[in-house]
Amino acid sequence: MHACSSVLPMRCSKHAFQARCSNLHQSIKKLSHRSDYSHGLNRFNPVSSKAAVLKANASTRDAEVIVVGAGIAGLSAALHLKKKGVKDILVIESGEAVGGRVKTDRVDGFLLDQGFQIFLTGYPEAQAALDYKALDLKPFYAGAKVWLNGSFHQVADPFRHPVDGILSLTNPIGTVFDKILVGLIRFRCLLGSVDDMMVRSESSIAERLKQEGFTDSMAKRFFRPFLGGIFFDRELGTSSRLLEFVLRTLASGSNCLPVGGIGAVPEQLAAAVQPEAQIQLGAHVSSVTGCSPSGECPYVLLADGSTIRAKRGVIVATNGPEAKRLLSGVMQAAPSKDASGVGTCCLYFKAPKPPSPQPMLYLNGEDNGIVNNCCFPSTVSPSYAPVGQTLVSVSTVGTHDELSDVQLEAEAKKQLGGWFGQDQVQSWSLLKIYRIPFAQPNQAPPTNFSRSVSLGSSLYVCGDHRDSATLDGALKSGRRAAEAVLSAA
Ligand SMILES: Cc1cc2nc3c(=O)[nH]c(=O)nc-3n(C[C@H](O)[C@H](O)[C@H](O)COP(=O)(O)OP(=O)(O)OC[C@H]3O[C@@H](n4cnc5c(N)ncnc54)[C@H](O)[C@@H]3O)c2cc1C
Repeated sequence: MHACSSVLPMRCSKHAFQARCSNLHQSIKKLSHRSDYSHGLNRFNPVSSKAAVLKANASTRDAEVIVVGAGIAGLSAALHLKKKGVKDILVIESGEAVGGRVKTDRVDGFLLDQGFQIFLTGYPEAQAALDYKALDLKPFYAGAKVWLNGSFHQVADPFRHPVDGILSLTNPIGTVFDKILVGLIRFRCLLGSVDDMMVRSESSIAERLKQEGFTDSMAKRFFRPFLGGIFFDRELGTSSRLLEFVLRTLASGSNCLPVGGIGAVPEQLAAAVQPEAQIQLGAHVSSVTGCSPSGECPYVLLADGSTIRAKRGVIVATNGPEAKRLLSGVMQAAPSKDASGVGTCCLYFKAPKPPSPQPMLYLNGEDNGIVNNCCFPSTVSPSYAPVGQTLVSVSTVGTHDELSDVQLEAEAKKQLGGWFGQDQVQSWSLLKIYRIPFAQPNQAPPTNFSRSVSLGSSLYVCGDHRDSATLDGALKSGRRAAEAVLSAA
């Protein structure tokens, strides 16, 4: 049965549909120019935008291309299809908002990213796909403070903060030679293309650091918490290709937070894909079927029993395990081993003031405690907290299922009391805890960061399991899938 006839009393005419698209476009345009005066932002309210998207999608119908999933990869695919002139794209999303793993909640005037995420301006795909000016990206300090043996030691990028860089040469976070080596590798990572980098010979990051000549102290005290926080892997078993990719990206840009929270990234993409792409929220795809030998179009079956056909193809843009389920038999799942993904907990507190006004990342350079990294997002962008208040973001590696939320909070506060002073930390009150068991797929070697997106029978796949499990990899995989659809036409 057709979804359109199952949802609506009668099938909408093409004319009515075009009129609805035009109305939606006007409403999205109005929303995207609305200012949020409480923070001086120029972004549309996620709740309002969601309502507009839902309203516009009251009718489901056949489409040119169907995209399953409105995460970064699915929205990127839709954007590229739109840019290349495809006019009738349907994005079907099971959640109640766009963004997938990249969302921001608003709680008591605070912006809580669903897990601490950093936006790196040096991401090559992001530079092409996103409007950085509209995201209003606010940079972190280019470096970090590392907690070791009872005090913080500052590590600085000498190219951005030359004086701090020189001062940090003699701190106990690695030797002077380690710091010179970072500079040399940083330079080397800028050579060649990203594509070449992602197929270079690989080992684990831990092995590569040793081969490069880094001391154990540098690996344990700096790279373990820093890269461990990015890849949720303190053992540094992740592919060395990602070490090079991250160093290159950091060298060519800044690490930032968007003024509207990390969720502003998919919101921008969602606004940009319309009206050519319609986003249907709250619709779970149960199965996907490729085109038949007799040439019938591929189709998706929704959980409500309705089917929607796609004239040119279906792109599955879910996470790896769900893509494997939907495309069983035609797709290998993850970029590396078929292992479970990596996870994290993110605890948010409100505080009267930060320990320092600097937009700093704080790292755990020791082997004890559950906290890997911590920051005060409102020192990076004041929009993250109401005026006069401070947001604290605390991240772990792994979900620590052995601890209840109460225990998790107590452990984190005990550890951070040592870092910032018990008096200060006792004044923090918990806003929310996010436990995220699947933040990224496993990216240990052997990896393949350019997996096929074209599966035959007019079926395509994208997502962070096709390229690197980063915002950039998800964007790239979406573009590649869109290009595959277009080249098959
Ligand atoms: C806590 C955390 C921190 C991170 N930190 C960083 C960082 O600092 N920098 C960085 O670059 N990357 C970071 N990442 C990784 C990055 O966010 C992801 O790689 C990227 O967002 C993946 O996007 P995606 O579109 O491939 O998948 P997803 O975001 O998983 O999107 C898939 C979408 O498909 C939908 N869906 C699934 N099944 C169905 C179905 N059957 N029917 C309909 N819809 C369906 C889902 O609801 C979802 O919206 C982080 C991730 C997390 C979780």
